[in-house]
Amino acid sequence: MTEPTPIAEETQSFSFKAETKQLLNILIHSLYKEREVFLRELLSNASDALTRLRFEMLTNQAVLDPEAELAIRITVDKDQRTITIQDSGIGMSREEIIEHLGTIAESGARKFIQASKDAKADFSQIIGQFGVGFYSVFMAADWVRVTSRSFHPQADAVSWYATGDDTYQVGPAEMSERGTKIEIRLKEDAAEFADEFRIKDIIHRHSDYIGFPIYLGEGKDPINKRTSLWRTAKSELSEEQYQDFYRQTTLDWEEPLTRIHFVTDAPVQLYALLYIPAKAERGMFALRKEDGLKLYSRNILIDEYNKDLLPEYLRFMQGVVDSEDLPLNVSRETVQASGLMPLLKKILTGQVLKELESLAKNKPEKYETFWREFGGYIKQGVASDHVDGEKLHDLLRFNTSQNPESLSALADYAGRMKDGQKEIYYIVGDDPRSVLRSPHLDTFRDQGTEVLLLTEPMDSFLLMGLHKYKDYELKNVAQVEAPAGEKPAPETEVERIADADFTTLIERFKTVLGERVTDVRASKRLSQSVARLVDPEGALNPELQRVYKYLGKEYEIPKKILELNPAHPLLKSLLQPGAESVLQNIIIEQIFDNALLVEGLHPDPSSLAERIQQIMEAALGSNKQN
Ligand code: ADP
Ligand code: MG
Repeated sequence: MTEPTPIAEETQSFSFKAETKQLLNILIHSLYKEREVFLRELLSNASDALTRLRFEMLTNQAVLDPEAELAIRITVDKDQRTITIQDSGIGMSREEIIEHLGTIAESGARKFIQASKDAKADFSQIIGQFGVGFYSVFMAADWVRVTSRSFHPQADAVSWYATGDDTYQVGPAEMSERGTKIEIRLKEDAAEFADEFRIKDIIHRHSDYIGFPIYLGEGKDPINKRTSLWRTAKSELSEEQYQDFYRQTTLDWEEPLTRIHFVTDAPVQLYALLYIPAKAERGMFALRKEDGLKLYSRNILIDEYNKDLLPEYLRFMQGVVDSEDLPLNVSRETVQASGLMPLLKKILTGQVLKELESLAKNKPEKYETFWREFGGYIKQGVASDHVDGEKLHDLLRFNTSQNPESLSALADYAGRMKDGQKEIYYIVGDDPRSVLRSPHLDTFRDQGTEVLLLTEPMDSFLLMGLHKYKDYELKNVAQVEAPAGEKPAPETEVERIADADFTTLIERFKTVLGERVTDVRASKRLSQSVARLVDPEGALNPELQRVYKYLGKEYEIPKKILELNPAHPLLKSLLQPGAESVLQNIIIEQIFDNALLVEGLHPDPSSLAERIQQIMEAALGSNKQN
C-alpha cells in the first residue's frame, strides 16, 4: 500500500552543484568534432538500466510490466529536430532522478573536468574516448527531458527537464510503462543527429555490442549486431570484428597485444574471449574502471569486474567469460561462493599461460613487448602464487652481465653455463649500469661467468619465490665464495701486500671505521676493486634487506664486513711511509663510503662531496710540492 501523498507534487526547480555547472559549461561552450559520442553515453546508460532490471527480475517477482521486452527504441523527428531514446530498464524514482541526474557522476565527469584544464589544445581529439556520462548530451541539445518510471509496481512517473543552464526542473509525469525516456531537442547546428542513417552509423561504430536490441523508428529488426562475439565460432569472425569489439567494450584505442578466444565443454561449459592490452596502465579514458573480467551466465551479464576468474598476478587481462553451467538465479555473492569458480579459474589461467608460453616461443619479439609492460606481474606471480609460481619460471626474462642489453630466459642462461657450473648467479642492485661495476663481480668478470642483473624493485620480491630453476639453485654473487670451476688466473696474479703490513693496514681500518663495520678482512674475491662489503654470517639476506627498504619499513642497514683486496695498488700506496696520517684516515673513510655507494646502501651520498674536495685539495697540494 502506498502512503497517501500529503501535498500534491508539483514541478520544482533545483540548482545544479558547482562542479556540474562547470562541466555543463565546458560541454555547451566548446566545439567538439566528436559530439556524436553523446549517443553512446545515453545508450550505455540504457543498457546498464536494462541489465539492472534483468537482475531484479531474477530475484524479485514484483516488477512493473514483467512481460515487456528488454529493449531500446530510438525515434527521430527531422522537422522538430528531436531524438527520443527510450528503454524498458530499471527506471528512476523522483529521489533517484534528483540524485543521479542532479549531481556529477563519479565516473568520467570529474576526470573530464580535470583533463579539460590540462589539455585544452587537442581536447576535441580525446573527447571521443571519454566516458563523460549523461551530461554529454548537452554538447548537442538545446534542452533535454527525461521521463522515467521505476520498476517498483507502485512507483509514480517523474520528469526532469534542463536546458544546460544552472537549474533543472523535476515534476510529476504521465507514463504508463516501466523505464526511461530521454527526449532531446537538438541545437540548430546538431540537426544532423535527427537522421536515421546518421544514427545507424553512430551505433555501428560505438554501440554495436550492446546486449539488448536497439530499434530505430518503426523498425521491427534491431539495428545493432548484439552478437555475443565470444559465443561465435572463430571461423566466422573477422580480425576487424575482434578489434571493434575490443575497442567498443574497453574504449582502449590501442590494439591489444594478443587475444585468446576459446570454448570448452568439459569438465565445464565455458566461452572466453580474453585480451592482453597493449599497456599495463589503464588509460585515463578507459571504460573499465577496475580490474576483473566480465562474467556472463548464459549470455547474461552477472558481474562487470569479476576478480575470481584469474589469479591476482594476471589482473591486467581484459575480456569476457560466459558459462552455461553457472546457475542463473544467483546473486553476485553466491557466484563467488559457487564451487564452479575455482574450476573456471584453473581453466582460464591454464589458457592464458599457454598463450604466453607460445608467444615466448613463436613470437619472441612480441613476447619482449609483453615482458616490458607486464613482466612485473609475472614476477609477482613467481613471488606470491603458490599454485602457479613454478609454471612461470620459463616466462621470466633478465638482463645479464654478458648480455646486459638483451633479455635472456633462465633456459638461455642455463644453456650458456660454464662446464661444471651448478648454480645460477645473480646480483641485486639499483640499476643495470652501476651493478656491472660491483666489486662482487670481480672474479665473475675475470672468468667470464654470466650473472643475472636484478635491478628492479620487484626483483627482490621475485627472489623470495625463486630459489631454484630446474636443478640449479640461484645464488647471490655477494654471498658465494667464488664462482664454481674457478682456477686462479696466473696472468692477473699480482704481488700481494706482505702479511705483516696487511695486518697493520687492517688494524688501521678497524680503528678508523670503529663500530660501523663488524670486521675488516682480506678478500679472495677481488681483482680490480679495492674493497667490498659482505654480510656477516646469519645476517638478513640482501634481497630481504631491499624488500624492507621498498616496503618503507624502518630498518637499519645491518653492519657489514669490509673486505679488502690485498693486491690493490691503492692499498699499497696507503702503506707507504710518507702517507700522512690525516689523509690516510680520510682515504679509509672514502673507501668505506665508496663500498656503501656501489652497494646502493649509502644513507647520505651528498655528504661525500666535502670529503672528496679534501682529497682533491690534498692531491693538488702534493703536486705543487713536486
Ligand atoms: P554513469 O553511467 O557513469 O553512472 P552517467 O552520467 O552516464 O554516469 O549516469 C548517471 C546515473 O544516472 C546512472 O548511474 C544511473 O543511475 C542514472 N541513469 C542514467 N540514465 C539512466 C537510464 N536510462 N535509466 C536509469 N537510470 C539512468
Ligand atoms: Mg553512463
